[in-house]
Amino acid sequence: MLVSILDDLLNLVYPRTCAACGITLLRHEEVICSHCVMHLPKTFYHKDPKNPLFELFWGKIPVETVASFYFFNKGNKVQNMVHQLKYKDRPDIGVYLGKRYGAYLRNDELFSRIDCIIPVPLHDKKLFIRGYNQAEMFAQGLSFAMKIPYDATSFIRSEATETQTRKTKQERWENVKDKFKVIDESAIRNKHILLVDDVLTTGATLEACAHTLLALPGVKISIATIAAAHH
Ligand SMILES: [Zn+2]
Repeated sequence: MLVSILDDLLNLVYPRTCAACGITLLRHEEVICSHCVMHLPKTFYHKDPKNPLFELFWGKIPVETVASFYFFNKGNKVQNMVHQLKYKDRPDIGVYLGKRYGAYLRNDELFSRIDCIIPVPLHDKKLFIRGYNQAEMFAQGLSFAMKIPYDATSFIRSEATETQTRKTKQERWENVKDKFKVIDESAIRNKHILLVDDVLTTGATLEACAHTLLALPGVKISIATIAAAHH
């Protein structure tokens, strides 16, 4: 009885179920189960520099390369995982996925030339409510695996943006442009930056961030996200 109560308490702190499919994890498994590690839909876009996500930014902002770990569709296991990362107090999911994806990216010619990893900043109010920035958690994991520093303080969001969910592409862009600012130029100037976020849908937020960062001399931008919608 006491043991099972202790187990329950531990599971409250750190759930021992797969963040993607919900199955109970085996002792050696961490965050997601072995089946999901194998079978969640990976994009492998880092192997294809001219992939559809790269094309999404073409003609809008100059980016070196764009990649995403998984495909994201409504109702799939990747969506469930990202939802828990954002809304269920599971920062560990972001760090874990960053480490996993970083293990792929560190062997890639383009991604190995990155100088600094920067997460898309969260507004202070959201950060206060959530307790962490999910993109920063992903950046931490990537940084650990790729042995490249991350910087979550030199680039910030300057104003609250309304929720993006029910807006058109144009409205989203109007909503986010000029909403970001660099507060330490020396940390950004002349660097190849890997800009990271949880999900890439229209790309409007990442485009707005890149637009602000590219205003400084010598900056190059690459992009990596946990998940991306099919394009
Ligand atoms: Zn699973």
